Formats: sequence, structure tokens, C-alpha cells
Amino acid sequence: MQDLVLLGGGHAHAIALRLFGITPLPGVRLTLISENFETAYSGMLPGHVAGIYSHEGCHIDLNELAKFAKAQVFVDQAIGLDLQANQVFCGNHPPLPFDVLSIDIGSTPHLPAGLVGMDRVIPAKPVHHFLEQWRSLLHTVAQQRDRPLQLGIVGGGAGGVELALNMQRRLQDLLKAAEKPLSNISLHLLHRGSQLLPRHPPWVGDRVHQIFEHRGIQLHLNETVHTVKLPHVRCVSGFELQCDYLFWVTQATAPKWLGAAGLAVNDAGFLLVDNTLRSLSHPHIFAVGDIATMVNHPRPKAGVFAVRQGKPLVENFRRLVQGQPLKPFHPQKRYLSLIGTADDQAIAVWGKLSGQSKWFWQWKDHLDRQFMQRFKNLPDS
Ligand SMILES: Cc1cc2nc3c(=O)[nH]c(=O)nc-3n(C[C@H](O)[C@H](O)[C@H](O)COP(=O)(O)OP(=O)(O)OC[C@H]3O[C@@H](n4cnc5c(N)ncnc54)[C@H](O)[C@@H]3O)c2cc1C
Repeated sequence: MQDLVLLGGGHAHAIALRLFGITPLPGVRLTLISENFETAYSGMLPGHVAGIYSHEGCHIDLNELAKFAKAQVFVDQAIGLDLQANQVFCGNHPPLPFDVLSIDIGSTPHLPAGLVGMDRVIPAKPVHHFLEQWRSLLHTVAQQRDRPLQLGIVGGGAGGVELALNMQRRLQDLLKAAEKPLSNISLHLLHRGSQLLPRHPPWVGDRVHQIFEHRGIQLHLNETVHTVKLPHVRCVSGFELQCDYLFWVTQATAPKWLGAAGLAVNDAGFLLVDNTLRSLSHPHIFAVGDIATMVNHPRPKAGVFAVRQGKPLVENFRRLVQGQPLKPFHPQKRYLSLIGTADDQAIAVWGKLSGQSKWFWQWKDHLDRQFMQRFKNLPDS
């Protein structure tokens, strides 16, 4: 028996567990270590914030999936690795040994050290923590509907933009239902750059800018947050904003314990992997999703890439166990980006082509629901 440990229940590992359930890998004992029994599907997370999708609708049940794959589950947070003894250190369990390890623990927004743990400064990840805070905010708004509330969002990439639009929709629905003025809530988005969604063609950023203007979301471009003492947010330029809550959706970052354990990482701490998804420094360790950077094919940190790595990862586990050469994986160069605008429309971006329509939203909704169905209706093994 070889011990294959899947660390983190990210998108690629969810797909791997499903595939192991369909076709088991003889001679391998599977273990999943995950902070939670469920994991959020990133494509539907903003829609869940808007109230379009239920919690169950956008979460994958890892416990069910592990049962299907005949994997044992440790619900715990990994906090370190011993690469001499091949063990994973967890918060609440004894060290867990492995022969082969695969890491899919995602990433978190880069929160300046001074803001970590600060009350009402809420990073978009870990998702379970973010959703807890969001639910508590909704509760506060529902309880004190007459109190004006100012919300700030830091980060003008796809995550920040989608969150701003979807948070506004949910809060406005809440106020409308209570027949209260919509002006009770104001939303501000602070972005360090001069253009929203800098990874996309300029039309996309300009279009979102227009949508923000139309919906009354206040945009502050070229603003880098310097100090936060809520309700005061001060930017490097001297600009000051009053905020009751500040959501943080900036550049992705990786935990320090991966590099500290001796794994090859880049300057931002992400695990460096080759074309077969194996660590450059430790060939018995794989990494996928946001936490991995393919040295020959760097891509943005996005769920679309994490999802695509599930199948080749499983294929390479099989090859490794059967003593065959591993197969290289080439992630797609161009990918479809669908950004929901929280009004039953979406902006679609494919390379240099982009547009906005209701049809794109229906398409996105169909693709996302179809993806989730794969985990709800598990096939026969
Ligand atoms: C608001 C927002 C909206 C987004 N929308 C989109 C979108 O529409 N499309 C898109 O492609 N991308 C989107 N992204 C980006 C997307 O969320 C990530 O690229 C994607 O989730 C990465 O998937 P992953 O499998 O690497 O990790 P994740 O989905 O983050 O999963 C990692 C899992 O590992 C667990 N974990 C983490 N650390 C540990 C630990 N130490 N021990 C045990 N378990 C651990 C976590 O609890 C989690 O279950 C969005 C991001 C944000 C913030």
C-alpha cells in the first residue's frame, strides 16, 4: 500500500476524488486533509453572495466525495511539512505520513500584516471565513435597517468587481424587501491601478466602470490603501474614506510554511511545478490550482485552470504508481472569462473579444450548474 495524501479540497482535488471513485487506483490508500467538509465552487461564489445560489448550490460536499472515492478524511488545517520524514503537520492531529503528496490549498488575498485579524477587515478568502462575515453583515443590516452603512472593497480585479456588484444586489434586495431607502448603503471600490480588470482588454474595464457609475458604486482608481483604523481608511495619496467594513480582494498570496519546509517556491511563495505538475524540488510532491505555478506555463490564478488540472493529475498518479513515465500537461492559453454583472447579464471575454448580454449570463449559469451536478449526482463506481 502506498499512501497518497491529498492536501486541501480545492477544485482539482474534488475532480481527482470523483475520478478515483469511478476508477479506483489499486495499491493506494487515499487520504484527504481539508479544513472543512465542503469547498466552495469559485464560479458560483459571487452569485451566492447576491442570493442567486444557495449555500449547498455552490459548495461541493467533500465528505460525500471522499466516501465515494473510499478515501479517509481528516478535517484539519495543515500547518507544516517534514520532507525528511514525509509527514504533514496538522493543527489537531498527529503528523500524517505520506508516500506521495498532492497540494491544492488555493491562495488568499495579500493582506498587509497590520490588518490581519482586524475586526471588520474581511479578506475574500478563506471562503468559509468570508461567508461567515458576510452573513453576519447581512444580519446586521436586517436588524438595523435605518443606519447608513459604508462598505469598502479593495481590489479591482475580477474578484473585487464581481463581489462589489453582487454585494450591492443582495443589500439592495434586502432594503427593498424592508421598504427602506437604498441610499442607506454605499459601496466604494479602491483600486491601485488606473484601469479596472487590468488582465482583460480595456473595453471590459471601461464597461464595468460605466456599470459602476450607473449603479452608484463609487470607484476610486489609483488609490493604494496605506493605513486602516476603521472607520478610517487612508490611502497613500492622502485620500481618506470612511468605511464600516472593508473587504480585501487583492493579489493572491501563498502560506509561508511551504517554502519553509524546503519546497521550491517563487518570490510570492507559490509552489513551482514542472509540466507533469510535480514539484521542481521534490518529485513525490504534486501541486495544482492557485497554489502551484507551472514554471513553463504560468497562468493567472483562476478556478478555470484549477479545474482543468484534476484529470491530468490523476493520470500522473496512476503512471507514478504503475512505474510509467509521467505525461506532460499543457494548460490552455486562451480561456473564457464570464463575469456576472448581478443583473442577469454577464460580460464574456475570449482573448481580445468581449461583450455583455443576458445570454452570456444564461450560458454561465448553465455551465456552472452543470459543473456542480457532477458532484451532486455521482456515477456508479
Ligand atoms: C470573490 C472571488 C470570485 C472569484 N470568481 C472566479 C470565477 O468566477 N472564475 C474563476 O475561474 N476564478 C474565480 N476566482 C478565483 C478562484 O477563486 C481561485 O482561482 C480558485 O478558487 C482556485 O482554486 P483552488 O482549487 O486552487 O483552491 P480553492 O478553491 O481556494 O480551494 C482550496 C481548498 O483548500 C482548503 N485549504 C486551504 N488551506 C488549507 C490548509 N492549510 N489545510 C487544509 N485545507 C486547506 C480550503 O479550505 C479550500 O477548501 C474568484 C476569486 C474570488 C476571491
